[in-house]
Amino acid sequence: MATISKTSTKAFSIRSSLQFKYAVCFIAIIAALLIFMNIYPVASFRDAAFEAKHASMMNQAAVVASSLSSLPELREQDVGNVMSMLHNIMVTRLVVTNEKALIIYDTSQYENNVGKYAVFAEVMLALQGKDVFRSKYTGEGLICRASMPVTSEGVVVGTVYIYDFDTEQAGMLETMRGNLLKVSLVILILSLLAVFAFSWLLTKRIKGLLSAMQQLGGGSYDYRVEVRGRDELSGLASEFNTLAERLDRTESMRQRFVSDASHELKTPLAAIKLLTDSILQNEGMDGETMREFMQDIGSEADRLTRTTEKLMNITRLETPDTAGGVTDMKTVVEKAIRMLETLASDKGVKLDVRLGEKCLVRAGADDLHQIVFNLVENAIKYNVERGSVTVLLFKRDKTVRFIVNDTGIGIPDEDLPYIFDRFYRVDKSRESEIGGSGLGLSIVKDVVDRHGGTIKASRREHGGTSFEVVFPAVRERRSEAGE
Ligand code: ADP
Repeated sequence: MATISKTSTKAFSIRSSLQFKYAVCFIAIIAALLIFMNIYPVASFRDAAFEAKHASMMNQAAVVASSLSSLPELREQDVGNVMSMLHNIMVTRLVVTNEKALIIYDTSQYENNVGKYAVFAEVMLALQGKDVFRSKYTGEGLICRASMPVTSEGVVVGTVYIYDFDTEQAGMLETMRGNLLKVSLVILILSLLAVFAFSWLLTKRIKGLLSAMQQLGGGSYDYRVEVRGRDELSGLASEFNTLAERLDRTESMRQRFVSDASHELKTPLAAIKLLTDSILQNEGMDGETMREFMQDIGSEADRLTRTTEKLMNITRLETPDTAGGVTDMKTVVEKAIRMLETLASDKGVKLDVRLGEKCLVRAGADDLHQIVFNLVENAIKYNVERGSVTVLLFKRDKTVRFIVNDTGIGIPDEDLPYIFDRFYRVDKSRESEIGGSGLGLSIVKDVVDRHGGTIKASRREHGGTSFEVVFPAVRERRSEAGE
């Protein structure tokens, strides 16, 4: 027990707390989503732009190359003439070289490169007969380079080189990137707030449950947690409350039982001690008195035996419901009556038993026997000479009713509410010779309660007492009916 409370009260470090783990997990997922959201659309937009550029630039290069391939020789004058006829070439720069990579035409706005060597890697590859396209994104612009050989009768006679610097599409890309970043930041802040609020709320409830369990572990059985909502934690909270309720009940039962039992056992023990002391101190005691004392000791010992037997019964009853099944109460009553017939005839009490049809009740035969035996025994015990006891068992309105009426000494009205209490006896002196323990009716009440029944006692008009037990009737199934 000590180790349990020690470990359970241990404080949790922040990093091992559930709140921290939840938060880290959520944040990691959100961060991954946001990174994807920032990279993927920009990359796919850029790739699409490059694809379009590739198609259009290669197309334009092909148009220029095929126009030039009709010339007998690539000379500055002729190339210029051909180029002036091609209107719809819309690129930043267009260069034409001869087979030696010497520039013979250039649209560059900054310098006149005609006559110089075009030292571009693309041109070198084109001179080897390859079509080349290269692209790059710098943040300021989309840079694309395309180059293609000009062939005449299968021989490379020169190259076309196109350079394009697109700032418009790059601007769109940058705007898109910026907007995505802003949206991501807002999402990040909102989800961080949500994550912290949620995990705080969740762990707050878990902590509440934990501290409730610690309270319970520390012995505060009356501690309950507030049940809110309908989720798993609320289920846990209400289960906890049920458990605490049970523990609370068991604990108070235990305390009451111990104090009641010790009190009840003390009385006959004290009497026995007193009687033995008297015998021992009184040396000249005559045989007759000694015998009387011995008889008294014997009857006190009998009382002790009866009380302990009943206490054992109670302990059995307080353990979880074991006696299940369906029992015909009629057979139980018949058996109990047979056992009590001698007691009745000894007391000169007439037994009038009227049992109806089969009465099925959801309870074990032993439990039902406790009820019937105790009630009928009391009706005989607390009866008068030539009195009578009427026992009735019948079914009515989906219930089984068991009634015991007697013409006995009766129970005063002020005692009626307490007779089902443990160890309660109406008048100890009146019942001392009967030898009751005050436990019988409390056992009966416990059993009736456990099987969903009710019991009530009332005073009869012309003296005597009436006890009525009502159980929900169990409908007879076909298979059982046929048995
Ligand atoms: P006990 O073992 O003393 O009979 P019970 O719990 O059975 O204990 O009964 C409690 C008290 O209720 C008895 O002591 C008795 O005073 C009273 N009592 C029970 N049944 C009857 C009855 N049929 N007639 C009169 N008094 C009764």
